[in-house]
Amino acid sequence: MIEASNYWTVSCAEDFAAPKLNENLSADLVVIGGGYTGCSAALEAAKLGLNVVLLEANFCGFGGSGRNVGLVNAGLWLPPDKVEEKIGSASGEKLVDALSKAPELVFDLIKENQIQCEPKRNGTIHCAHNQKGLTDLKQRRAQWQARNAPVELLNKEQIAKLTGTHAFQGGLIDHRAGTIQPLGYLRGLARVAQAKGAKIFENSPAIRLEREKGSWSVITPNGDVAAKTVLFAQNAYAEKNVGLTASKTAIVNYFQAVTHPLSDEIWTSILPQEQGCWDTAPIMTSVRKAGGNRLLIGAMGRPEGVGRYIHLRWAEKKISQLFPRLKTAGFEAYWSGKISMSSDYIPKIMRLDSDLYGIFGYSGRGIGPGTYFGTKFAQYLISTSQQTLPVELSDSYKDRYHRIKSVVFELGAQVSHL
Ligand SMILES: Cc1cc2nc3c(=O)[nH]c(=O)nc-3n(C[C@H](O)[C@H](O)[C@H](O)COP(=O)(O)OP(=O)(O)OC[C@H]3O[C@@H](n4cnc5c(N)ncnc54)[C@H](O)[C@@H]3O)c2cc1C
Repeated sequence: MIEASNYWTVSCAEDFAAPKLNENLSADLVVIGGGYTGCSAALEAAKLGLNVVLLEANFCGFGGSGRNVGLVNAGLWLPPDKVEEKIGSASGEKLVDALSKAPELVFDLIKENQIQCEPKRNGTIHCAHNQKGLTDLKQRRAQWQARNAPVELLNKEQIAKLTGTHAFQGGLIDHRAGTIQPLGYLRGLARVAQAKGAKIFENSPAIRLEREKGSWSVITPNGDVAAKTVLFAQNAYAEKNVGLTASKTAIVNYFQAVTHPLSDEIWTSILPQEQGCWDTAPIMTSVRKAGGNRLLIGAMGRPEGVGRYIHLRWAEKKISQLFPRLKTAGFEAYWSGKISMSSDYIPKIMRLDSDLYGIFGYSGRGIGPGTYFGTKFAQYLISTSQQTLPVELSDSYKDRYHRIKSVVFELGAQVSHL
């Protein structure tokens, strides 16, 4: 019987726990949300000497940061030319250039702080599911190579060798990228932020915000924090229990299923160099290895209600299509998470009010960007120069159709998986 349980929680080598807020405090910065964005902002702000309080409604890593695939990719989901097209060539170039280096920032932090998160920096592979996908990858290669990025097109034979399946027409390997145990990385960031002086509180939801005499007061059930600056870092997990949330974006649900342990023989025949990969299909599939000889398959979809039946049945079929020897391997567990999709797929840093900010909308690529945006936001508080930020501050964000889009994404995934 397949269990609803997050394998990253079961297999995490990093431990992190923080108390509940039970007193009134004051701080320079209050961060709401303990994911990559919040923990990176708290870590950098503490390093820079700010008095920081981070409030997490559940536990650090409860959101996307503890549930994702663990592909530490460079850039955004959109190819670099598209990013420049959307936000203008100067801003686009700045963002693309910054996020090209984001995997380096992540792997450096891991190394420097000995974060136990199974880091493997041996590239990730975008796999062409058909000829159209291959054409898309050729364009991506040209765009990245024009920016001197170490990407390489793989032919059918080469990709079969690297993945252990003949399902793909070719692929694009990006040598800047790699994989991590995502929850381990997040807990490591939280641990280091705490060690640098950030005060982290779990099970402490921010439920209200008040403004008095030029200062914010963040209210939680058992204590308040007065602060000059507040950062909303809740992203897709901004729930209605907070009076004010920065983001109302469309949501894509994404699920993963993990196999039982595989025999050494099968294990070495699949992804022998352990790159993580995903394909070019509009309803994409991801495949990667995880510790304990397990393989993870993931795709868009919310495995609840009828969706549970449709998506998990699809996952069983898909894994045996890709790797026929796994036909009877079976899954041990599955879990899912929510992804915040901004209307133009570009992440946002929003100024909601004076000294009140929100960061959201990584649109499916948040490990490198979340770390980078959080870090840069903390630096911006010191420099006060918008030049420090990877994107211009937005004063408003509206996606009138965010609810409809969320429904369409899920229906699309269900139809495709049927
Ligand atoms: C299934 C899945 C697969 C993905 N795969 C990848 C991938 O392979 N590579 C990649 O780069 N990106 C991937 N992503 C995207 C990436 O995981 C996210 O963009 C990233 O984790 C967002 O980090 P965050 O810190 O902004 O938000 P989150 O990690 O979602 O953290 C937000 C936190 O805010 C807390 N919160 C909410 N409300 C309150 C409140 N009122 N008070 C206090 N706390 C509150 C939540 O409990 C949560 O812990 C994936 C996402 C998902 C869901």
